[in-house]
Amino acid sequence: MAREHVTVLIPVLDEERAIPELGRRLPDVLEPLDVDWSVIFIDDGSRDETLGAIRTLNETDGRFTAVSLSRNFGKEIAIAAGLRAAQGSACIIMDADLQHPPEVLSSFITRWREGYDIVYGQRLDRRTDGPVYRFFAKRFYRLFNFLVHSDIPEGAGDFRLLSPRAVKAMNTLTESARFNKGLYSWIGFKSIGVPYTVGDRAHGTSRWNLRKLIHYAIDGVTSFTTLPLRVWSLLGVAISTIALIYSIIVLSRTLLFGVDTPGFPTLIISVMFFSGAQLISLGILGEYLGRVYEEVKARPLYIVAERVGLEPEDEATLGHSELMPRKSTRVPAPTIARAMPSRRRSRSRRITP
Ligand code: UDP
Ligand code: MG
Repeated sequence: MAREHVTVLIPVLDEERAIPELGRRLPDVLEPLDVDWSVIFIDDGSRDETLGAIRTLNETDGRFTAVSLSRNFGKEIAIAAGLRAAQGSACIIMDADLQHPPEVLSSFITRWREGYDIVYGQRLDRRTDGPVYRFFAKRFYRLFNFLVHSDIPEGAGDFRLLSPRAVKAMNTLTESARFNKGLYSWIGFKSIGVPYTVGDRAHGTSRWNLRKLIHYAIDGVTSFTTLPLRVWSLLGVAISTIALIYSIIVLSRTLLFGVDTPGFPTLIISVMFFSGAQLISLGILGEYLGRVYEEVKARPLYIVAERVGLEPEDEATLGHSELMPRKSTRVPAPTIARAMPSRRRSRSRRITP
């Protein structure tokens, strides 16, 4: 039987110091696993010598390859680029900073061979995150699961293995506001967690900051549920009902006990409260409208500047050939098939179950 092929996808942003270390540690871990393997670094617009380090590594071992994006598109899109470049082979996604211990990969592969399509690393503790972050992250995922009726497991992130068909399923999702954790859960398939302990970042610092986290959370909710839009209709109904009841009370008081019109403070408070509520509802409408606008523009998710050790795609400089068709009518399927380099095509055919 042909050996399975596993592609390790590593998004990298300014990780020049991490690359040589990965080059040393990954073969030690992957070699004993009885699989063919290759690594695709997705250089997400690094400004340091990351790409140079990858080139050096590629010269010594051709299994280390890279797709270099034309600018920083963000980790979520870098992962999408990697999944598309892997063209249907099983993929393991991990960070470059060695917080995802490469030693866990062997249990990923064992679980995959047992028949799981998605094997995710599950952080045992979040001690590397601050207490405030931990508090909000936990509440956020609870709320998200409640709103979306999804089941994002606690402590699961991008560190995971996806089987060839899970990779294909991910590649059919064309939305540009990508919330990967939600997407992994949306595509379904049999999944299982493998616990691991988060290491300390080997070099550099985390790229996340409060602003990015808030954006990420809003992207997550808006790309998976329209409940925030519906809440306003419910609130409108509730407020109208209260106003109606109150007007009946005022009317009957006036008719029964004569004219009595106090209530200036009540008036001001309610005017302010309801104009606030209207502005919030407009803001939420705007959030969705903005996202609809982003999606209808149908820009490619990313632009590839360069590939290292991977055969060039037909229109690689434009990045379009990387994309699955956004609408099946626009790019006929055979064009996509032809755009795949023949060596990889035959390989992916072999490993597809
Ligand atoms: N990363 C990326 N693009 C970005 C930010 C991060 O490709 O815009 C990569 C980064 O190089 C690392 C991984 O994503 O390999 C995780 O980043 P980081 O360690 O900053 O995130 P954390 O571990 O704090 O969640
Ligand atoms: Mg990290």
